[in-house]
Amino acid sequence: MKVEAGRQRGPSLSLRVKALGQALGLDRVGIASPEESVETRFLSEWLDRGYAGEMAYMAARREERSSPRKLMPGIRSVIAVALAHPAPTPVETRVGGARRAVAAYAGGEDYHDVLLDRVRALAEGVKVLAEKKVETRAYVDTGPVLERVFAARSGLGWQGKNTCLIDSELGSRLLLGVVLTDLELDFDAPEPDHCGTCRACLDACPTEALRSPYVLDARRCISYTTIESKEGIPLELREAHGDWMFGCDICQDVCPWNRKPDERERPDPLALRERLQPDPRWVRAELRWVLSLTEDDWREATRGTALRRSRYRGLMRNALVAAGNSQDPGLAPLLQRFLEGEDPLLSEHAGWALDRLTPEGRS
Ligand code: SF4
Ligand code: SF4
Repeated sequence: MKVEAGRQRGPSLSLRVKALGQALGLDRVGIASPEESVETRFLSEWLDRGYAGEMAYMAARREERSSPRKLMPGIRSVIAVALAHPAPTPVETRVGGARRAVAAYAGGEDYHDVLLDRVRALAEGVKVLAEKKVETRAYVDTGPVLERVFAARSGLGWQGKNTCLIDSELGSRLLLGVVLTDLELDFDAPEPDHCGTCRACLDACPTEALRSPYVLDARRCISYTTIESKEGIPLELREAHGDWMFGCDICQDVCPWNRKPDERERPDPLALRERLQPDPRWVRAELRWVLSLTEDDWREATRGTALRRSRYRGLMRNALVAAGNSQDPGLAPLLQRFLEGEDPLLSEHAGWALDRLTPEGRS
């Protein structure tokens, strides 16, 4: 990571901020200019195309999202941080002959809690290091800030064609956060794009959600349809959902930058990665087990995890689609309670799945 020349003030302070971030267990810390730019203006075009789907909150605070100066008028620097989360082991990528069905990040302690705690500690530490009154604000998906844009601008990696931030050593399984501050710090230079002629992610995406390199239509993305969307899974996308019940890792699994030595080999002195390790029940995520969960069971099994985001109803909707794709007629009895239940959305998804599992007629 190179430091841009030409700014004289505070280099030692910038280095001390980075050292503090690493002492707090963060894998990468970079510093970026807060100014509005081409990347932030890209957001407007993306929203105007409707690619955000039901994520109305993206448009609701569009101005702030485009420029952090709207959030903090005196802002001078953005400190971006990255923490690598545990990658799935080879054995996790194929369980019982089926592909992993829950995104690798989702089955452990909610990364928002793990990382936000670290980012807030960094924000407080910056105030101490500055030895004067400074304003700081910490975000981990918790406000209208484009963390990925500032992570790229501060040299933590580049935004790949799959739209994820990629670090040449750590890959793309990164959790990102930022600290906005009115403290003047030295900006790092961005990392060049290393995707080259590769298009593995575009070719592997089962729903063609990557409309072109670097452009994601969230409405077609399984991470969106299974987590963010509260509506039915679009009929034309259901078969392409395959086994996925919460999120999708395909465009990261195929990325050559993720074929790195297992980061479990790296030291984890503050046990952050250990906290992010998925609960074995969600590593297996057996369809029979998921479809049998009552709402109370679900509450227990998802306590403290990001899986809560889809709510019980969303997970069951997703599991019904996975059941319809399973080619396992033995699951049919488990679908009956949804078919006959009071929720029309779940009933419709159960009917769709049963029609595929027992084409000769529902029992
Ligand atoms: Fe496609 Fe899955 Fe990547 Fe979404 S997460 S873009 S559905 S491969
Ligand atoms: Fe870039 Fe290839 Fe990775 Fe896609 S799979 S993000 S094109 S390197």
